[in-house]
Amino acid sequence: FQMAQGKMQEISNGISNLKKSITDLKEIINLEHINAKIVDSESAVNLEIKLGKIAFKEVSFSYTNQKNTLYKNLSITINGGQKVALVGHSGSGKSTFIKLLQRLYDVQEGEITIDDQNIRDITQQSLRKAIAVVPQEPILFHRSIAENISYGKPDATRAEIEEAARKAYAHDFIINLPEGYDSQVGERGVKLSGGERQRIAIARAFLADCPILVLDEATSSLDSVSEALIQKALDSLFIGRTTVIIAHRLSTIKAVDRIFVFSQGNIVEEGTHETLLSDLKSHYYALYSLQSRSNGFYG
Ligand code: ADP
Ligand code: MG
Repeated sequence: FQMAQGKMQEISNGISNLKKSITDLKEIINLEHINAKIVDSESAVNLEIKLGKIAFKEVSFSYTNQKNTLYKNLSITINGGQKVALVGHSGSGKSTFIKLLQRLYDVQEGEITIDDQNIRDITQQSLRKAIAVVPQEPILFHRSIAENISYGKPDATRAEIEEAARKAYAHDFIINLPEGYDSQVGERGVKLSGGERQRIAIARAFLADCPILVLDEATSSLDSVSEALIQKALDSLFIGRTTVIIAHRLSTIKAVDRIFVFSQGNIVEEGTHETLLSDLKSHYYALYSLQSRSNGFYG
């Protein structure tokens, strides 16, 4: 009987892991693809970027029905060029924020603007051109390294691709691959480490050169060499761009302009790392303490 119980537990753990993988997969697809249900309005015009200011104005949103509202009257302004971080437990609403910014869903109430233009009134193509996303687990295609970097700017020259790779600290490992930039990625080609895939994704973002950047931080540890290079690459990628970081390690966001703490779909605190941490009763302090006890990660 006890053996059967153990088996059941194993199966149940298996199912819950599978569920999580499916959710992660859905998230990747959502972040990198477009929602076919969203169509341009007939009067849609191209987004005109000035400073890259982002505003959510009294936004209410639910994925399914009104009963289950995730965001209630959420208002937030991120000035052009600012760097902000979104933190909070898993399920608190961080990823939803960037899905709404990319208009993968329409909000039920309120509006989202970029440089004072409602994203409902602009073409999706111009919106996509304005926002680069560096995802948690970058997906590489079964193509060459060069093609993987120029995804997003297919007409890029080899010189431009190389320049982006250098800025992302990817050039050195790429030229050491058997066929350099022409090496094929994937099962039959070269296998890249998590840190190398991240740097390819960062090279993509350099090449795409979007005024707005969204970074969904990796939740798993990278080797420390990769880690340091990625941080350096990101620091230079952030310069001159409005940057929204979904942070899982509070150690990486000490220098951002503002931190928004999410809890159950609401922003419950806002401030800098120092101001938030100085309040021992803050959600942020609790997250920080939790993370110190669990290898530097949470959420
Ligand atoms: P976080 O990124 O902070 O972990 P999310 O924004 O992904 O949180 O999720 C916020 C809430 O919305 C969670 O309760 C989650 O289950 C729910 N949710 C996320 N995506 C969907 C979806 N596509 N359909 C229905 N509910 C969703
Ligand atoms: Mg998330």
